[in-house]
Order: sequence, then C-alpha cells, then structure tokens
Amino acid sequence: MSERIRKTTADRERANLADYAWVRHDFSWQHARSWLSGLPGGRGLNIGYEAVDRHAVGERAGAVALRCLDRSGAVRDVTYAELARRTSRFANALRARGIGRGDRVFTLLGRTPELYVAALGTLRAVSVCAPLFPAFGPEPVRERLHRGGGKVLVTTPELYRRRVAPIRADLPELRHVLVVGDGPAPEGTESFTAAVDAAADTFEVPPTDPDDMALLHFTSGTTGHPKGAVHVHEAVVAHYATGLYALDLRPDDVFWCTADPGWVTGTSYGIVAPLVHGATVVVDAAEFDAPRWYDTLQRLRVTNWYTAPTALRMLMRHGAELARRHDLSALRFIASVGEPLNPETVMWTREVFGRPAHDTWWQTETGAIMISNYAGMDVKPGSMGRPIPGVEAALLERGDDGRARVVDGAVRVLDTPGAVGELALRPGWPSMFRGYLGDEERYRAAFAGGWYLSGDLARRDGEGYYWFVGRGDDIIKSAGHLIGPFEVESVLMEHPAVAEVGVIGKPDAVAGEVVKAFVSLKPGYRPIDALRLELLALGRRRLAALAPKEIAFDQHLPHTRSGKVMRRLLKARELGLPEGDLSTLEVSR
Ligand code: ATP
Ligand code: MG
Repeated sequence: MSERIRKTTADRERANLADYAWVRHDFSWQHARSWLSGLPGGRGLNIGYEAVDRHAVGERAGAVALRCLDRSGAVRDVTYAELARRTSRFANALRARGIGRGDRVFTLLGRTPELYVAALGTLRAVSVCAPLFPAFGPEPVRERLHRGGGKVLVTTPELYRRRVAPIRADLPELRHVLVVGDGPAPEGTESFTAAVDAAADTFEVPPTDPDDMALLHFTSGTTGHPKGAVHVHEAVVAHYATGLYALDLRPDDVFWCTADPGWVTGTSYGIVAPLVHGATVVVDAAEFDAPRWYDTLQRLRVTNWYTAPTALRMLMRHGAELARRHDLSALRFIASVGEPLNPETVMWTREVFGRPAHDTWWQTETGAIMISNYAGMDVKPGSMGRPIPGVEAALLERGDDGRARVVDGAVRVLDTPGAVGELALRPGWPSMFRGYLGDEERYRAAFAGGWYLSGDLARRDGEGYYWFVGRGDDIIKSAGHLIGPFEVESVLMEHPAVAEVGVIGKPDAVAGEVVKAFVSLKPGYRPIDALRLELLALGRRRLAALAPKEIAFDQHLPHTRSGKVMRRLLKARELGLPEGDLSTLEVSR
C-alpha cells in the first residue's frame, strides 16, 4: 500500500474512531500498527520518523509542533518543518561524532526546545535516548550515565560545571558533552549550537527494526533503587493507540503533559504520543505554580491536559476561586497518572473544570497507559478504570509476602469481584519493556505463569473497573487485616482541612503494625490537637478496624520528582532506619 493511501485509510478510521466507535472488539495491536506510516519502502518503524518526518511534509508542515514557554512566560513556536530541520541537524551532528545505532545519548536539561530536539534527533538517528531530571545531583547523574553507558550528554554549561565536571573522570565512556546556551563552553565540552549549525538540515532516518532499542528510562525509585527500563521503537504503536484511547488526542489539539521528560510520562506523553498524532505540545520551562498553570491553560487554549494527582491536590489547596477566574473553555480532556487519584480530587475537577479527571495507570516498565478511565466511558471516581483495548489484565492470588503466589511456575487468576490480588498483564503489548539494564535476573523475576507482575495490588468490581489498593511493598498488616494506604488516604482527604496524606504501617507489639497517617493541611488550618482528634474520629467512623491510630501533621511530605508521596521514606524516618536511595527525592515544594 502506498504511504498516501495508507495515511488516508488511517485518517478515515480516525474519523470513525473520533465518535468512540473505536471501543471495538476486533482491536489488535497489529491493526493499530497500520495507523502509523512506517518507514518508506518498508524499512521498519521509527518513533522519531512517526513523530516528526511524516508531519513535516504536506499540509501539516507549518503546524506548530512545540509551543515553548520560557520562565518569563514568553511563547516560542516550533513548527513541524522546523522540528524536522533541527532534529536532522542534531542527528547529523551525532553521526559526525561517530555516534550510531544503539549508542546512548543522555540529556540533563531543563524543558527547553533543545531537549526535545536532542531527544527526537537521537530517536531519528536510531541511537538511544535517555533523559535525566535536570535537578539530579552529581551522584545520581554519574550512576545513571555509568549504568547506561552514556556516550553523549547534552546539558548546559552551568549544569555541567556543577553536576558533571566533578565526576567526569569516572566516566571514561562519555565521549562528547554538548552544552546548550550562550557563552564559552567549559573545558571538555563543545557548544550545542555550533555543533548543530555545522550540520546539514536534512537527514534520512535509517532502517529501524521495531525491536531496536529506543529509550532508556529509570523508574521513580519510590520503593527502592531506580531500575533502568529498556524500550524499543515498536513502542510507538502503543503511544499512538493510547494517545487516542486514553487521552482523546486529535491532530489539532493543544496537549499539555506537565511531567518532565526525566520521567517516562514526560517522554511517552510529553513528547512522543502528541507529536505522533500531529498535535501541538506545550512545553513549559517553569515548575509548578498555581496562577501560572491556570494562565497557561487559558492563554494557550489547552485542549488535553495530562497531569498528576499531587499537582491537582496542590491546585485544590489554592481553592476553586482561582480556577474560576480563568477561561478554561478550550479544555476538553483531563487525565492524571503516577499515584492513586482520590475520589475527592475527581469530584473537585468535575466541579471546577466541568469535567472529571480521568485516572490512568501504568508504569515505566509498561511504557504506555494500560488501564484508564478512557474517553467515552463513565468515570468512576477512585477507580483507575479498565484495561484499554489490546491489554489483558488480571489479578493473581497472593502469597504470604503479599505478591503473586507462584507454585511450580504457575499462578492462580482471581475471578471473584472485589478480591484483592497482584495486578498482572499479559505480555505482548508493543511498549512493554525489554529488560532492566544490567539486571536480567530481575527482569525474569517480573514474569510468572505467562503474566507480567506489576508489583501493585488492586481489586476489580463487577463491571470490570480496577481499583488500586497499594504497592505490594506498602501494604500494611494490622491485626489480621491487610490495609492499602490509598483507602485510608482517600478517607482523610475528604476532610476540608486536608491537602495531602501519606500513610504507613508502624510496627506494633500487639497488632503487628498499626496505621499512621502523615497529613499536610490546606492554608488557613492549624495543626492543633482538636483537628487531630477530628481526623482520628473520621477514620474510625469510616474505616473501623483499618483506621489510623496515629496522625502527624507534616507540611512537607516527601515526594519523588515524578510527584509520588515517598511512603518508604516516611517509614524509614519514623523508624530511624537508613533512608535508602534518595536520588529521586524532590528537595522542596
Ligand atoms: P520504583 O519502581 O523505582 O519503586 P515507581 O514504581 O514509582 O518507582 P514509576 O514507574 O514511575 O516508578 O511508577 C509506576 C507506579 O506508580 C505504579 O506501579 C503504581 O504503583 C504507581 N501508579 C501509577 N499510576 C497510578 C494510578 N493511576 N493509580 C495508582 N498508582 C499508580
Ligand atoms: Mg515500580
């Protein structure tokens, strides 16, 4: 089939899909692949090509690919045609330095256009893109570059001096450091601008096997040491399909994913999915700031917004009034990821934005959204939704350690509605990780009985909706009960004074563990004993035996940089134990 005809077929299908007829029973990943172009001449499938090249010619060439806000709020647009030229220059610059297929290119950059150019240029060159959070200190940077075998690093002169120069001698594999910004390049680096200016602005994407490694992403380190998850070019099929299903993406949308590309969400959905759909991606260089966020939603007429529960809870902290002062009429779809989304937060978005936030569940390992309250289905507040078409999920019976019980390599699938089990997925979706970097044993251990084991516990109701219970490691065992922190946190969130909660199990001589809640308060509320008693009473009333026995007020709950409450750190601090790997801890918020 010629590319043109294939594209028209895909477009026609999209038109049908747009009215949600896509909740189809005959969905297959193979079919979803036909929605993408593929490299001309049947030379394979490349994420960068699907995101950039195929829109850079013809009618979409002049459409805005990136709408970049600098810290002052000034807007700069990059069209698809310009993105093709700039990523071509970067890909040629890599090639001129002998960087080729499979070589690892790291970025340590704020959310500026150069980060997106480097990431997409790397993908187009069939090298491997590995984005790091710009706030990482020297040790987390060293460790990841070392583990990932980084040959190229793109950063800024300042970040280089502070974070990389002190550890450069320990990184013999790191051959090239390109620095973005004006002024002289520090010793041992070269100017990004000079390198790309010297390169040609056309680049033909080389043949790409769908199994070629494309992205290297480190997990959030919520439960321990971050793991490096390996992803391949075929993942783009899932990025496209989930963009369509779970995020309701269409070509003329203005899509804002608030996550940093240092976290998988900021890459799969902050770069790839919206560009593959030909949408406009909002890139904001600044960190969370409630008035600025509302201003951005209004001024840029954002249509689809993908954010995290902790951000929504922070907006709630600022009150509905601030939201109501803005014209948010362009906003059509709100989605959330990273942590359980409390029912209270869903109701609030429904009230304030006129539409509910759609919870989505997935992991660095899954590469794309797996379960969600997808477009066109009824949102159940507090539920993560249903597996998207093409994804087969199950709950597996647990053993004493809280994880799936594996007997002679076999597992037992739980069918009873309401039963709690380890959430598992049937391998075979395109964006499934293909390994943990340097840890094959751990990768193997993530599969049993024909399932991928997520490490999360959940239950499913009679309508097939999944409800998050907690991470396997966070489950509290108290007097014979198994308690998921999420349920306790959601109940306390219902109190008007409460902004956010983190719940842990605290060792207890009688009960084994008791529930302790760390609570941060909304402005205007004081951490007094009367409030503590009120919250304890609310817990007892709603949760009976599962209620928290202790409540501590804490305005600075520890979060990962991807926005998750770090319960393991709350617990370590409570028990005076070593704090473990803190490389992904957000320093202050
Ligand atoms: P690590 O694996 O290093 O401990 P992490 O699991 O937090 O860190 P990520 O891959 O960023 O790293 O996060 C995936 C996890 O986040 C999921 O396994 C789940 O525990 C949690 N999560 C993501 N989305 C949701 C959601 N919608 N509801 C509940 N939990 C979610
Ligand atoms: Mg994990």
